Amino acid sequence: MPSPFDWTHDELARLEREGLRRSLVTRTSPQLASRIASSRGTLLNFGSNDYLALAADERLREAARRAIDEVGVGSGASPLVTGFGRYHAVLAERLAQFEHAERALLLVSGYAANVAVVTALVGRGDLILSDARNHASIIDGCRLAGAEIAIYRHGDVEHARELLVSRPGVRRKLIITDSLFSMDGDIAPLESLADLAEEHGAMLVVDEAHATGVFGARGSGVVEALGLESRIAVRVGTLSKSLGSSGGFIVGPASVIDLLMSTARTFIFSTAGTEAAAAAALKALEIVEQEPALRASLLAMSQTFRAELRSRGFQVQCSAPATGSQKIPLPDASQIIPIVLGDPLRTMQVAQQLRERGIWVPGIRPPSVPQGQSLLRISLTSAHTSSDLDQLLSELLALLPAASRENSRS
Ligand SMILES: *Cc1c(COP(=O)(O)O)cnc(C)c1O
Repeated sequence: MPSPFDWTHDELARLEREGLRRSLVTRTSPQLASRIASSRGTLLNFGSNDYLALAADERLREAARRAIDEVGVGSGASPLVTGFGRYHAVLAERLAQFEHAERALLLVSGYAANVAVVTALVGRGDLILSDARNHASIIDGCRLAGAEIAIYRHGDVEHARELLVSRPGVRRKLIITDSLFSMDGDIAPLESLADLAEEHGAMLVVDEAHATGVFGARGSGVVEALGLESRIAVRVGTLSKSLGSSGGFIVGPASVIDLLMSTARTFIFSTAGTEAAAAAALKALEIVEQEPALRASLLAMSQTFRAELRSRGFQVQCSAPATGSQKIPLPDASQIIPIVLGDPLRTMQVAQQLRERGIWVPGIRPPSVPQGQSLLRISLTSAHTSSDLDQLLSELLALLPAASRENSRS
């Protein structure tokens, strides 16, 4: 008997042929930032965003357990109804302090935070300038907002300027970018974007999802590292990467956060996250503040490994932003290190071969990256050791002979 869902078989077959079909691997251990057990055996883990190795940290577990003992598990309602608890309130206050912002708003995920901020700030008759490599959650927020979307070439402030001046007469303008790009591992030219926004009276919003906890003297992100906190007041972050918990947040001036609270549908219509997650994130913030050596050693290790890969012929793009107006230079040190192989089938094949050798490096394909830009995404964490990195390097050298490293240039 035919089913109206029959077309899904054909569609899956097409994805399979093109190397785009995805499947789950079950992790059977806690998220240990350097090694995990999985349904495919024990793997050296270069596929986690748990950059400070906090997701399974005993101190976060204890904080979450205490919160559960005190208030239970589910929050039971959306935040504006009865879902907003004391741990949420304390966390929002601490995040605002940590980010040197007036106010913070908690959401169930970073994805929900990006959709919230874009849809609340712009609508029909407005213009969004969005970096070509922005995270999918920003792209989806832009689509939902109903504003005109102008996509500027990755990191290209002059292109953003051209697009902006070619559209006079729009009501509001929003420039939005990742600070540390999630797949490319490079940093946006934030100071030049801040200049552009100020010249044109545009709002600027920066997503620090991968930078929170890793960059900046206090560990709040790239905006802090570049001394731009007062010029880039509205920022998005997540509790689910370096902070080892789950949930998203937005910080900004009181008027912006208050408006979001009253209008952002992903805030209003979703049950509040658990207080246990908020309690764990609070503990993680304390660790980030008290242990700056965690991020310093991660960035030092990343800088060394980037240089090592490059010296062996791998094409690893520099992570620091092009100079432009930037006053504070950043080292080429981001912990996200992409090796671009181009073809999705080949990329997944190399990822599979690494897995057979006990190493988990995710292969990233469209739509996470543009066509022809499939890549191995290596992410380092503060729990990796130099012998972990040696093992990864020697397997990469074995699997990708010099000639194929050359190919990745294109
Ligand atoms: C992961 C990510 C998000 C989404 O955060 P979640 O908390 O995982 O939903 C948003 N923006 C960027 C740049 C990300 O990499």
